[in-house]
Parts: sequence; structure tokens; C-alpha cells
Amino acid sequence: MHVGVVIVAAGRGDRMGTPVPKQLLTIDGRSLLQHSVAAFDAHPEVAEIVVVLPADRVGDGAVLAGPTGKACAFVAGGARRQDSVRAGAGALSSAVDAVLIHDAARPFADRALIDRVLDGVRQTGASVPAVRSRDTVKRLDPATHLITSTLPRDEIWLAQTPQGFTPTVLAAAFAHADTGVEATDEAMLAELAGHPVRIVLGDERNVKMTTPEDLRQARAATPPRVGTGYDLHRLVDGRPLVLGGVVVDPARGPHGHSDGDVACHALVDAMLGAIGAGDIGRHFSNTDPRWKDAPGLDLLGRAAAIVREQGYAVSSCDVTVILERPKLAPHVDAIRAGIAAVLGVGVDRVSLKGKTNEGVDAVGRGEAVAAHAVAVLVTISGEAGR
Ligand code: MG
Repeated sequence: MHVGVVIVAAGRGDRMGTPVPKQLLTIDGRSLLQHSVAAFDAHPEVAEIVVVLPADRVGDGAVLAGPTGKACAFVAGGARRQDSVRAGAGALSSAVDAVLIHDAARPFADRALIDRVLDGVRQTGASVPAVRSRDTVKRLDPATHLITSTLPRDEIWLAQTPQGFTPTVLAAAFAHADTGVEATDEAMLAELAGHPVRIVLGDERNVKMTTPEDLRQARAATPPRVGTGYDLHRLVDGRPLVLGGVVVDPARGPHGHSDGDVACHALVDAMLGAIGAGDIGRHFSNTDPRWKDAPGLDLLGRAAAIVREQGYAVSSCDVTVILERPKLAPHVDAIRAGIAAVLGVGVDRVSLKGKTNEGVDAVGRGEAVAAHAVAVLVTISGEAGR
């Protein structure tokens, strides 16, 4: 099939209580919208994608949706959900023979789910993924708050998206909307227009992000990201040796463009590496006069800001410094405290270990200082695509 997708991201998400629309909040470094777009972009039958955005965001559509391999258009949403969906469907080409309508606040739709919905469209012309209710469902009288009936649980299914329709059924659903009905999903309009709508198996993981707790749980379920870093600087007389902002030797230190703080430099590389953002040279080039003699802790703070913009923060880090002399032990606590303060984490999250090279090689002969670092990053709240 030549499938067109309408991703609805026009809502304000008031229940989330955040200043940005919820579809722009991030999980694992990508916004809910970007996760949704990527799921459909990767499906082989999807040929066209239309993203419906708040009117003032349409101009940023390509950035907000993230990179796609398929034709992607951006339109402004309407007052009601059904108006937004209609605007989106209107931007699909006439070549489309199935339309999927998806709520951007469901970031975990996957290929198997999309396949089942498309199968339902082939069979019936309209298809909705749904999951069984785990709980007993009661009907109540809103005036008295007393139960009027208990609904038979095997007849209760909880509807998800993407919902799929042939263009003919969708047109009939929209025509029914013209009678003044306000629908919470497109399946409801198709039902009211008299079309059979097939339920296909949804996915328990295809949850809708509605409250801050939904996002917190989704972020907590996201695996951490890990990066490694390494740095080495030659030592020369007449320069101070600074590690994590602490002067360890005032008389013999690194030769270099910056202050040569190998602990910070290795850690910056580990943090950037964890999110695939390149290395310290790309962000703080040693030919750029801005970074001449730049303190390592300053670069570390800038790296923390870079990962934060991508929706991550350092959860813990481990740095090993290899230095023949002087001994690091008297300085370890101060170095850890300085790094922890810049990263905004507890000192217990920052490890620093000193080693010698047993007199072997350049480091062992006292000609250089080196450091290895590992950083673990976790996903935090953020707005992607700003
Ligand atoms: Mg360096």
C-alpha cells in the first residue's frame, strides 16, 4: 500500500504542566514527536508523512520532527483534534490508499503494531489498535457518583493510535464530523458514519504520555548511555599541573593550548562520546583563541551544557589519572569535589583514581600525564529540536 501518515502534534498538553507542548519533551534524547516520526519513517509501506503542529511552530517543523528519509510536510492544527487531523489529511497526496492517524504523544509505536493496523485496513477499511482493560470498568452517575453498572470486561477495549482508514472511509468520517459531532478519535466518527471498524491487537508499551509521571516512568526505563575518553599531555617545566581545577604541581605541568587538565579533557570526551556528539576538539578546537588557556573545569561545564541540551545529564563518572609524580592522593577529594560541583552531582558520583606507570614509557619517565574516563549519562527532561 501507499500509506500516508498524519501525526497529530498540535495540542498544548495542559495536563503535563510544562511550559512547552508535551510532544516536544524528550525521552532518551529525542522528543516524543521525533520518536513518533522515526517509527513511521522506518516503515517500508509509509510513503508520506504530515505533521500537524501548533500554528506558531509550523515554520520550525523540519527541526522539530527530526531528520526523515521520506516526504514530510508540516501544517497548522485547528481548534479541535478532528480539525487538526482533517488539516493533516488534506496535505496527503491523492496517491495514498491508506491513511494512518497517530498521536505524537505515543512515542513507542513500532513496526509490528503498524503492520497489524494496516492489515485491519486491508480487511475492513478502518482499523484501531486496542488493548484489554486490566481493571474492572464501572459506569457511574456523575451527579451522585454512584455506580449504575459494571461493564463486562471482555467487551471493553482501550483504543490506541495509529488508527487506519482507507481514504473513502476517512472522507465519510470527516463528513460526519460536519454534523457537529465532537469526537475523541477518528474511529468514533467512522463508527457514527456507519462504517465497520476493526479492532486489532494494540501494544501495552504504546502508552500515551499524559502526565509527568508517564514521562518519568518512560525515562526511568531508558537505558543509560556510556562514553569513554582519553587524554595525554607532555609535561614541561614552568607550567602548573592542574587536574580537575586543582594545582597538583606548580612547577612542572602540561604543554598545550589549554590548561592541559587531562582529567577534565578525558571526561569531556567521555560525555560527548556517550551521546555521539564528537570529541573535545570538535567543540573546543585548539586553534580557536577562545579556548587558549581555557580552564578544564570551564570546558567541562560547557560539555555538561551540550549534553543537557540533548536531554542528558551525567549520572556518574570514573576518571583514572596516570602520573609518575607527585602523588595524587592528597588532592583526590578536592578534584572530585570540583568536578562534582561543575556537573551538579554528588561527590559520591565522581570517582578519581591515581596511578603511576611504574617507570615505563614516557608517562613512567615523567615526560607526560595521561587520563582515562568513563561517563554514564541518563535521560532528563528537555525539549529537543529547539
Ligand atoms: Mg587535552
